[in-house]
Formats: sequence, structure tokens, C-alpha cells
Amino acid sequence: MSETPSKSHGRLSLRPSAQPRDLMAETARPGAWEARVVTLLPDAFPGVLGHSLTGRALQEGLWRLETVDLRPFGVGRHLNVDDTPAGGGAGMVLRADVVDRALRQAARGAPEDRGRWPVVYLSPRGRPFTQATARAWAAADGVTLLCGRFEGVDQRVLDAHAVEEVSLGDFVLTGGEIAAQAMLDACVRLLPGVLGNAASVEDESFSARLLEHPHYTRPADWQGRAIPPVLLSGNHAAIAAWRREEALRLTRARRPDLLPPDDGDP
Ligand code: SAH
Repeated sequence: MSETPSKSHGRLSLRPSAQPRDLMAETARPGAWEARVVTLLPDAFPGVLGHSLTGRALQEGLWRLETVDLRPFGVGRHLNVDDTPAGGGAGMVLRADVVDRALRQAARGAPEDRGRWPVVYLSPRGRPFTQATARAWAAADGVTLLCGRFEGVDQRVLDAHAVEEVSLGDFVLTGGEIAAQAMLDACVRLLPGVLGNAASVEDESFSARLLEHPHYTRPADWQGRAIPPVLLSGNHAAIAAWRREEALRLTRARRPDLLPPDDGDP
């Protein structure tokens, strides 16, 4: 089975010359959660999001994905999108006028209320992306993600569009596309109907401010390593208690920062 959705299944490239497409005319269900991604690399989408659960959900219209290609908004014969940094220094900066036109295109038909539709620049300078961010964005109508390249984006266009900066983590990528796909994956799996078993969203890592307990499956004995006997006991209360204890143990060992101050000691 091919898991890569065709362009007619939710993925749509917005072009500056084209009239805004009638969003409801696409295969997505009316009111489906929507991601709009402004990028120099539209062909990198849906990427990994076109596979497995997120890909199936895209095909089924549980969410939609539009890419806005930055290039056609460029200036001059070569459609330049970047220029040298004011004040000198290495690298190139995405131009305010070019990014402005792309963001205007991306804003068509989207609510201006940033709570209902966050507009985000992926940036290592940004607020760290967390499960709480994923929950907030998944509860919105949709989200617009601006992927930077080179040294970044002219500050003025970020200010003018009230763009929020969000980071995937304390490291530097060459562009925002991988960060955008990671964040969208975290959002899409929270949308109703995307995961088969809704309960798995409830008890996994971070939902209860704890890391998840370890998992085991067949074979019961593997290379001399047994599954913890309590998991085979059929005693659901004991299993739940064991899982909670393991979650606490792992969180104390690996991420004590997630625990309330009085809960950090064994
Ligand atoms: N000069 C910038 C880094 C530019 S990296 C700085 O030092 O802050 C090029 C692009 O990659 C950025 O514009 C951003 O969109 C993306 N990017 C890099 N690291 C990222 C991260 N940790 N989270 C989200 N986006 C990131």
C-alpha cells in the first residue's frame, strides 16, 4: 500500500499568481485542522508526515497541509529571496519584503486571532516546543509555520506579522523544515481520530509530567532476559502500580526537572 498521499489528498501548494483555492473544495473534511508551511523547500513536504498514521490521516482529510513556496515571491529576474546581513558578517538573511508576501498569502482565510491560529517562525532562539505547545496548537483551527534558511529572517517582518518564535531544541539545524515536520507530527497525532487508541495519548510521556514506563512484548523470554513477572500476572492494579513506579524512577533518574521540587528524592 502506498502511504504517500497524492497532491489531491490534502497537500496543496499555494502559488502567488493563483487565486486562493477554495479550501473546502479539497478532500479535507470541513473544518479540518490545517497546517500552512512557508518554505523554500516545498517538495520536502509532506515528507515523513505522508507516512503511517499522519499520512493516513492526511489522506482521510482529518488534517490538511499547504505549502507556500517562498521562491515565487522573490525579487528580480532570479527571484532572489535573501541578501547579505545589514552590518556585515557571514551568510545571508531572508528578505522582509519577500517573506511578507509569502506570509500574506499564507494568512488568506485564516483567523487573525493568534490563539485560534498561531503564526510561528521556527528558530533556535524561540520558546522551546513542548507537549503543551502541541496540545495548544492542536486545539487551534490551524497553524502557520515559517521555515528559515541561511542565517534567518529579517527581524522587521517577524515583528510586523506578530510572529512567535519556537525552537525544536538547543541545537542548530540548517533550516526549519525538519523542525516543522517534528512539531506538526506532535500536533497531528493529538487530533481526534488520528490515533486508533485514544488512551495511548493519555498515559504516554509528558502527559502526566512523567516519562513513560518501559514496554515489553513477545517473546516472554528473549536471550535469557525475562519480562518483569508482574506484567504477566494479570493483576491490573499491580501492573498499574508497577508502571507508575517505573515512570517515577525513570523521571527521577533522567529528568528530575519534570518533577515538582518536593517529589525529586527517592
Ligand atoms: N543564525 C541562526 C540559525 C540559523 S539556522 C541563529 O544562530 O539563531 C537556519 C534556520 O534553521 C533558522 O532560520 C530556523 O528556521 C531553522 N532552525 C535551526 N535550528 C532550529 C531549531 N533548533 N529549532 C527550530 N528551527 C531551527
